[in-house]
Amino acid sequence: MWTYHPHLLEQPVPRYTSYPTAAEFSDAVGPDEMCRALGLIGEKDRLSLYVHIPYCQEICWYCGCNTGVANRPQRLAHYLEALDLEIGLIAQRLGGRGQVSHIAFGGGSPNAIKPIDFVRLVDRLVTAFRIARPIVSVELDPRGFTPEWAQVLSLTGVNRVSLGVQSFSPAVQAAIGRVQPTDLIENCVAQLRGRQIDNINFDLMYGLPGQDDAILLDTLSEAVRLKATTISLFGYAHVPHLIPRQRRIDATALPDVRARFDQAAKGHAFLLEAGYVPVGFDHYALPGSPLALAQKDGTLRRNFQGFTADPHDSLIGIGATAISSFPGLLAQNEKNTGRYRMLVSAGRLPASRGILRSPEDQRRGHVIEQILCFGRANIAPLGDTPGYRHLLERHEALGLIRWEGDQLILSPEARPYARTIAVVFDKWRQATTMQFSHAI
Ligand code: SF4
Repeated sequence: MWTYHPHLLEQPVPRYTSYPTAAEFSDAVGPDEMCRALGLIGEKDRLSLYVHIPYCQEICWYCGCNTGVANRPQRLAHYLEALDLEIGLIAQRLGGRGQVSHIAFGGGSPNAIKPIDFVRLVDRLVTAFRIARPIVSVELDPRGFTPEWAQVLSLTGVNRVSLGVQSFSPAVQAAIGRVQPTDLIENCVAQLRGRQIDNINFDLMYGLPGQDDAILLDTLSEAVRLKATTISLFGYAHVPHLIPRQRRIDATALPDVRARFDQAAKGHAFLLEAGYVPVGFDHYALPGSPLALAQKDGTLRRNFQGFTADPHDSLIGIGATAISSFPGLLAQNEKNTGRYRMLVSAGRLPASRGILRSPEDQRRGHVIEQILCFGRANIAPLGDTPGYRHLLERHEALGLIRWEGDQLILSPEARPYARTIAVVFDKWRQATTMQFSHAI
């Protein structure tokens, strides 16, 4: 069982889906930098694509994504036209170089568009880029799922899906503005499995309004009963000063930090008992699943989609808000869908913010990624091991870490504190912590 050390959880810390984090992005990066990064991609370099659909059938009150309601067909049609244009712009600059082996659709909810439009989108990608037997993953909202979607996902070669579930409790669902009965989720899972799409992730949350240990464990039991391949168990981050739609959530019904810690710890113990392998600091995977294998064979990565078995260094983000990641650059597309459409219509790559990653950023990013993915890292490339040992003395005294020369090794009990350890290697984290949530 994990031990509660409140003083270690006081400082808000990033989730480190990139390093530097998006908080360090500025408008010093734009289309020219994106163009240069695409120009560096070699003939046989392996690539990943991420396509962002910033629309949902309904907007959940807790959601921090850049997404809008998919209630105006014309708006969706215009957005899909813009995606088509951006795909063309990127393909033109690649000139046939690079081989795509991973494609992820996220949002928002990719199934907010029509199934036939999804087919057209996949077709456009397949004809614009060199793609060979890709791993294709899609985030799905069970509320908009239909038999037609199951058929289309199967026909387009989708082999991994992630379902937004959060909680099976009707009371908690009502408190977060996301009502979806268990039957609906069960039916969605059955239809996917009926089409041989077996790799199914459930996104679940603890720390939700009105949620106690028993309610959380009931939700986890349901996820285990439905044989979720992986479970992402996130702590709900209540930051209404940053995400105004969260004001609809009753803050007085939220568990406090101690209760959140206990929920995370009990959820962890429950899932281990149920046979899941812990991956990173908030994922659980069935043994033999791609994520568990990636952790075992050392290829697990952390990117904008969280912990992933996608091993590539170059990820091209397509769509409003999408972030592209290259060894020397992080570039985010224009967030506003209207401006995004105007840019691509004018034949411009829509990158509007980002950061150039220096060699030092890359070394620090690697250390942070290793800590979060594998619970250990060789910090020699950063120099000054004694200085870092000093900064982590509190963690060492509590038995959360140990050192073997320049190797930093986290104990299994350090899992809830992994981000508070990683932050020590983040040169940017000094005055900006208000933008982040607590580590638990
Ligand atoms: S369905 Fe997902 S992306 Fe859409 S509002 Fe809800 S949580 Fe956000």
